[in-house]
Amino acid sequence: MPAFSSVFDEKSDEVREILARVRCPSVQRLQELLAASGGAPLGLLELAELLEIGRTREAVEQFETLRSFVLERWRKPAGNRVRYVAPIYVSSFCIDTCAYCNFSASRKAAVRRRLTPGDLGAEIEAVLERDARVVELVYATDPEFTTDRHVRYVGQLVEALRNEPGSGALLCTGHLSREAYAALREAGLFGIVQWDETLDPRAYDRWHAASPHKRAFRERMDNHERAMAAGLEVATGALFGLADFRYDALMQIAKARHFVSEYGRGPFVFGAPRLKPIAGHELHPETEVPDRAYETILMVYRMAAPETGRWLQTRETFALNLRNLLDGDVYTYRCGEVRPGGYHRGNGDAPVARDGQFGVNELEREFVERELAAQNFRIDYAWTGNRVQPAARASST
Ligand code: SF4
Repeated sequence: MPAFSSVFDEKSDEVREILARVRCPSVQRLQELLAASGGAPLGLLELAELLEIGRTREAVEQFETLRSFVLERWRKPAGNRVRYVAPIYVSSFCIDTCAYCNFSASRKAAVRRRLTPGDLGAEIEAVLERDARVVELVYATDPEFTTDRHVRYVGQLVEALRNEPGSGALLCTGHLSREAYAALREAGLFGIVQWDETLDPRAYDRWHAASPHKRAFRERMDNHERAMAAGLEVATGALFGLADFRYDALMQIAKARHFVSEYGRGPFVFGAPRLKPIAGHELHPETEVPDRAYETILMVYRMAAPETGRWLQTRETFALNLRNLLDGDVYTYRCGEVRPGGYHRGNGDAPVARDGQFGVNELEREFVERELAAQNFRIDYAWTGNRVQPAARASST
């Protein structure tokens, strides 16, 4: 099957051409777009119009109209569900040098750790005790983790999950080969998580040209499809703040639609991370994405692919997440402090700001469940096999 890289240049040109001429819709034009969204899926041009609402200061009425529409369509009066994923950080040793990440090899002062199988067992036990049954093993680009070692760690997690209904093992690593994914699938892996960071080649180079593994732009771009070819589910997404958010959102949608046309299924979720402070230092690139633009991206993702959730998580505040959660989204309120061993913080450990991957807002379960229940949401801790059900009026891609 032709991989996304084979159509990348054509799609990228199409998106750039759209962005050169798109305008923010008037209130009347927005009503036309919303009415049309109940039929055939909106095209990239129409979705680009919606994205303009996020960056046009005067488009306050359009933004509120769009929000009302999305909430009305994808938040039911009762019985909304969000799916929980528990990330376990396994290693913070990295050969790559992404300037937005505290695990970068360039950050010599960062405190690093690599979990042994015994440490991993303790972390798995901690998340299972909290009822999580979909667990993601998260790695930096650590050369000590060969395919065999990944297979052993995934096997350990799969064994602990005991094939319970709705359980699943996810993996977030540097890009791997198709053979590696076949072996991981054989070991019981459910799916992979990869944020493409940005699909803008120039911006990608600016941030990653010095990274020995990650600089392979096209090889990394096709990583999801090597995993899909091995039978795995995938999560894709951009890291917003590295490039023009409109380009990255549209290219992610184009990529998800490519998956559907080639594999008959899209990603199970769009990741929606934004740049956050590292080790307490704020990052403010020119392409920084303000809240209004960010929330518009979330709405456009749902309108573009109603069957694909968005992954809201602890990088953002709870208030922002609560405003934006929709039925079927993935939601994580604890990320193990985005550091190896984070579910077992000891008294002598470095503070999160120093050794976590980036700044997060970790929350307690009781608080989150109470607040979500007040908005008619419940958290599903064992959900694999249940993909998002599009709302009755929603279109599918
Ligand atoms: S984002 Fe990933 S690859 Fe880049 S420095 Fe951080 S851990 Fe390493």
